[in-house]
Amino acid sequence: MANIKVKNVPGTAGETPPYPYQDYSWLKYWEKMTGDTATFCARCGCLNLAKHGGHVQRCDNFFDSKIYIVPLCEECNNPNNKDVFEVDCKL
Ligand SMILES: [Zn+2]
Repeated sequence: MANIKVKNVPGTAGETPPYPYQDYSWLKYWEKMTGDTATFCARCGCLNLAKHGGHVQRCDNFFDSKIYIVPLCEECNNPNNKDVFEVDCKL
């Protein structure tokens, strides 16, 4: 699978997954949606364990403004970090 360029979306901390998964964490929601098990942070080159389902937007497709969830570690799931980074996982 090709790496996908994404960036953090700020202001999503208070949001919960859509019905009927509102009791899920975003990480668990990602697992449910993709059928994958989240282990490591999806950021390329990051070896930390995935702790959060981070909200990101794709940076490689200008017309795709959808918000995606990716498994990220505490460090990478930082809305103040506006850097574009690459992830290697299902969106
Ligand atoms: Zn990370």
